[in-house]
Amino acid sequence: MTDTLTTIPILIVEDEPKLAALLSDYLQAEGYSTTIIADGLQVIPFVRAQPQALILLDLMLPGRGGLEICRELRSFSAMPVIILTARVDEIDRLLGLELGADDYVCKPFSPREVVARVKAILRRAGKLATTTATATQPETAPKPPLLVDVDRHVALLDDKDLQLTPIELRLLALLQSTPGRIYRRDHLLRQLYDDHRVVTDRTVDTHVKNLRRKLQVVRPGQDMIRSIYGVGYRLDPDLETDSNETPSTGLS
Ligand code: CA
Repeated sequence: MTDTLTTIPILIVEDEPKLAALLSDYLQAEGYSTTIIADGLQVIPFVRAQPQALILLDLMLPGRGGLEICRELRSFSAMPVIILTARVDEIDRLLGLELGADDYVCKPFSPREVVARVKAILRRAGKLATTTATATQPETAPKPPLLVDVDRHVALLDDKDLQLTPIELRLLALLQSTPGRIYRRDHLLRQLYDDHRVVTDRTVDTHVKNLRRKLQVVRPGQDMIRSIYGVGYRLDPDLETDSNETPSTGLS
């Protein structure tokens, strides 16, 4: 039953040996291949050498903390990250830090729950999570100013890479699916998270804030995501009609 060609590599960064072994057992039972790293200093060199499909990342680690690791990881990779944190009330603070993590799991957790989250994120990330996909642009012209391709994990505004985290990318793709339509927070929340028990409306606000800031890096002074007070958000419809009114629905 060892199918090494299709095994999906998952890195478990956790310094409690029992916990790490438990997670590893459950993930292996589901067919994933796992590596355990307990020392924070080893994480970045390891994933640079061996890209992972997903990383489970504890925050409190010897050598180097998970927050710092996540930040550095995001500077060169979109590998999905699930942060393992000790307290549920820590999550809002973590979100505010803009770590770019895909999900958060609170300790103590059930390994089954972690496996379910891993599967959900990998399903969303698609097969490209395991490869270092380069940002290739379609050659077809004319191009809309905003191009979001979830499968390739690319979002371009005016041909510039927005460098979004996986969740920001999905958020933008969602808003872009009908520009001008107002999306309610709870709707966005449900679409973004398979399991939204631990996240709140504020989570969406935080992601929107980060996304907005990244869009403004390319178009300073322009607010492309409008807040509709008490309701939700919508994407500036001009983004789609800027160059041509042909709708681009190349992403399914
Ligand atoms: Ca720890």
